[in-house]
Amino acid sequence: MHEFSIVQSLLALIEEHAHEREAKKVTKVVLRIGVLSGVEAHLLKVAFDTFKEGTVAQEAELVIKQEKLKVFCKDCNETFEKDELNALCPKCGSLNTEIVGGEDLLLESLEMEC
Ligand SMILES: [Zn+2]
Repeated sequence: MHEFSIVQSLLALIEEHAHEREAKKVTKVVLRIGVLSGVEAHLLKVAFDTFKEGTVAQEAELVIKQEKLKVFCKDCNETFEKDELNALCPKCGSLNTEIVGGEDLLLESLEMEC
């Protein structure tokens, strides 16, 4: 499953951060997931709960923030958030647009105890 490998690299990253700050444990992990990233939030949670055992993050709460698709229209010179998954400008209908958000999976923040 795609989500399993994401969580494995995520946990490696978390361990690294915790080690750098000499944290004893991680209490909260906040992730931002774009709608276009292809990641299922609930599968990611399941994977996280499976793999966090025995790591510095085993008591951590996982918070997932979903990020909407963001499109910048070069005709309107504006950025829009959209619910539909296409790159059409919701204002003028132009396809002269650029996707500027909603594609990534980011580790937004970590809370830890030292
Ligand atoms: Zn437009």
